[in-house]
Amino acid sequence: MSDKEEKNPFEEMQKQFQEMLRNQGASSFFSQPPPTPGSGAGNEPPTEEKTSEKQREILKRIRDFNLKPREVKDYLDRFVIRQDDAKKVLSVAICDHYNHVRQCLENPDLTEREYAKQNILLLGPTGVGKTYLMRCIARLIGVPFVKADATKFSETGYVGHDVEDLVRDLVKAADGNVDLAEYGIIYIDEIDKIAGQAGAGARDVSGRGVQINLLKLMEESEVNRNSQTDIMGQMQAMMEMQRGGRAGKRTINTRHILFIVSGAFGTLGENVKKRMESGKIGFAQPGGAADRAPTEYLAHAETSDFIDYGFEPEFVGRLPVRISCSPLTRGDLEQILSQSEGSILEQYRTDFRGFGIECDIGGDAIAEIAARADSEKTGARGLMTVLEKIFRNFKYELPSTSIKKFVLDGRAVREPESALRELLQDNQSSQKKLLRDEIERFAGRFYTEHGMELVFADDAVHHLVEESLQTDKTIRALCENRFRDFQHGLKLIARNTGQTRFNIGAETARNPDRELSRWVLQSYRRSGGSEDSEKE
Ligand code: ADP
Repeated sequence: MSDKEEKNPFEEMQKQFQEMLRNQGASSFFSQPPPTPGSGAGNEPPTEEKTSEKQREILKRIRDFNLKPREVKDYLDRFVIRQDDAKKVLSVAICDHYNHVRQCLENPDLTEREYAKQNILLLGPTGVGKTYLMRCIARLIGVPFVKADATKFSETGYVGHDVEDLVRDLVKAADGNVDLAEYGIIYIDEIDKIAGQAGAGARDVSGRGVQINLLKLMEESEVNRNSQTDIMGQMQAMMEMQRGGRAGKRTINTRHILFIVSGAFGTLGENVKKRMESGKIGFAQPGGAADRAPTEYLAHAETSDFIDYGFEPEFVGRLPVRISCSPLTRGDLEQILSQSEGSILEQYRTDFRGFGIECDIGGDAIAEIAARADSEKTGARGLMTVLEKIFRNFKYELPSTSIKKFVLDGRAVREPESALRELLQDNQSSQKKLLRDEIERFAGRFYTEHGMELVFADDAVHHLVEESLQTDKTIRALCENRFRDFQHGLKLIARNTGQTRFNIGAETARNPDRELSRWVLQSYRRSGGSEDSEKE
């Protein structure tokens, strides 16, 4: 049973509150009539007082939009590997869309004219960069972006979510700024899952209802800022109004929101293939079609194919830009690792850098990671799975060591556990050697400054090295602090006994003051005799 089906203790209160609002005529507050065309998207003065400097800058950038398709593509090339056709078509669609937005703002009469919004249908297997392309575009323009799976929506919104929630989520993504949300991008994945099954007779009723609801949003509608079930939000807005404050825009207009729907459309490729083969079109000629994977046919899907697949004709009609993304090869995965600016590998490097650790990845390691990811058959998502497995323990162990740099090679990709073990062992022995030398240097400085010879026994060295490693203090700081009063005590002993050479054992390294007092006392007692400070 879903959450929404469970008995809600506040249900009764909620109903009463809604009833009260209806009686007071306040319900009109939550369902404003659509704005007069050309009057701007909302029905209230814009919430300028809530617009931050950064948001103002982004709104200005949208209102002055002047990017060219080539510039958008160049930007995408920095992050997204391959998908050249998709990048080109998307760049044009995005420029058209935001140019139209700008023109509407410059000349409000334009909004009254028919304009087919460039809503986009992205086809292609999972993990090939569909979402990534759109996220990069949203970042380039600065507009808010939300993504959801079509399967989580229901027709009524009582069980499952209401498609209008997507629009409200855009406001959240825009930090509450409705003006900015109205230029945002909504990405709905797994759209193929809400199509009725082709040839299955009656279509899936709920999927059809969701398509119709989406259709309304894609055209133009006013969405209440607070959902019907968000009683708290409604009360807040109500109270704000009663206080006489400016409530800001109460509805969100979807006219300029760009919708992207996407899906893998697993069996659609097969259907297109059959259609094309039966039509004996050039694509199906010998030497071509027989070796082609069904996904390659997605690029040739036509409106009728989508309708046969189970989509409402009006719904497909509202998605004029159709783009197919190709599956990624092993070579593409290698390129993602080595060339994409936003590659997941870059994220790991940044994570390590956060601990002051440089991570070098060899070419053989990249090839091995790509090969392993390729066998996962989840596109570039496979890279995340493979890298997570490799780096899991490196990320846990290395920050607590003194390792500042490591190299990942092909063998380390194949056997990360033993590679990490060796790295830690090598590091410990070389680290310990460095620390031991540091103790020698401390003793050297002590002799130069005070004329007293400190001879550290192995167990004392071991103790100091371990403590330095555990507390992350340098040996120099540790020794200077621990033996800071030694010269005074040792000078007394030297005066009493003439002794200038002192053995430091583990006990002295642990409790220097206590041991020094004992030595000094003994030196007085045995004044004139040969003090044996070597005994611990
Ligand atoms: P989907 O096609 O299922 O929407 P995504 O775009 O979410 O896949 O891809 C998941 C992640 O894999 C992205 O965030 C990105 O890091 C990486 N990725 C996928 N495709 C590409 C690509 N063509 N170039 C660079 N990185 C990619």
